[in-house]
Amino acid sequence: MKVNLQLNPLSAWVKKEGKPLIIAGPCSAESEEQMMQTCSELKNIGVDMLRAGVWKPRTRPNSFEGYGLKALPWLLKVKKELGLPTTTEVATPEHIEQALKYETDVLWIGARTTVNPFNVQDIADALRGVDVPVMIKNPVNPDVALWVGAIERIYQAGIKNIAVIHRGFSNFQKSKYRNDPMWQLAIELKTILPEIPLICDPSHICGRRDLIQAVSQKALDLNYDGLMIESHINPVVALSDAEQQLTPHDLGKMLESLQMRNNNSENAFFINQLEDLRQKIDNLDRELIEVLAARVRLVEKIGEYKKDNNVTIFQLERWDQIFKTRPEWGKKLQLTEDFIAEIFKLIHVESIRKQTEVMNKRDLNIS
Ligand code: PEP
Ligand code: MN
Repeated sequence: MKVNLQLNPLSAWVKKEGKPLIIAGPCSAESEEQMMQTCSELKNIGVDMLRAGVWKPRTRPNSFEGYGLKALPWLLKVKKELGLPTTTEVATPEHIEQALKYETDVLWIGARTTVNPFNVQDIADALRGVDVPVMIKNPVNPDVALWVGAIERIYQAGIKNIAVIHRGFSNFQKSKYRNDPMWQLAIELKTILPEIPLICDPSHICGRRDLIQAVSQKALDLNYDGLMIESHINPVVALSDAEQQLTPHDLGKMLESLQMRNNNSENAFFINQLEDLRQKIDNLDRELIEVLAARVRLVEKIGEYKKDNNVTIFQLERWDQIFKTRPEWGKKLQLTEDFIAEIFKLIHVESIRKQTEVMNKRDLNIS
């Protein structure tokens, strides 16, 4: 799938000089002092845009749900005094109206809103005729089409300044992350919509401070256009997401430690080397496919034998043996056992499919 939208580049709506865009600020705006103290330190460490949640989508009722309307003047004040653009989450047409009344520069749609096309359409309808950039977080569930659908709805309302925020996905499996990054889904989105600016939110992916540096570096290594990171002047007393917020000072140190990598290098030697290595990979991939094809031909032959001798397709001992030995062979060549096991699971599925096809093939030469 490819979707063709005429989006503006990030540089058309935010000031940044060739570097990744850094958005930072507290999970929630808690008071004028908290906003002023946090955001003035963030300005000093070179943050480009300030974030703060005003309406907080919380999993359970009776937890802190944001100060709402009361907090908007605090955002306006930091914007005016520090001269930095601000962004907040909106989930309803009323939020949009109020955020715009208080001159919020950029709006974002949260992960729990992106999942619901009715909500997204209500937001899109409220944005018709309004000139404000919108950032769209991935839906909570790992569904790229739903993410694309939300982008299309906002675009069809006439918004050309759109970015997406990758904040990870809910996952039943136990993981060290609060929301599994599933990087391949963000990459898939970029393949569908190559022009869309992609921002990583390591705070909501990690859920804990100590993982944020590694996830931020990974995002930069994957050529993301920016990072949105939660920062609180005193995270321990934060009213929401206390464990994942960094002080502006720690955020500054973390940002300094990040390695900025180039997307492409002008260096002719590097380009030559890269071309050479890619050619070798192309050749190996061709060989790999030839080997797989030869394996499938043998599997078909075995299928014929099994059919002639009336033997079942699936023979447990044989597959037990394959699943045991192949990862061991891979390990000897420094390949991870899980990687080889996954490949052989796929090969197994295809082998069974092939042999079933052979078994079910009618013999057309019956005399
Ligand atoms: C947030 O950014 O504070 C937030 C609520 O994020 P998400 O929608 O990713 O959960
Ligand atoms: Mn948060």
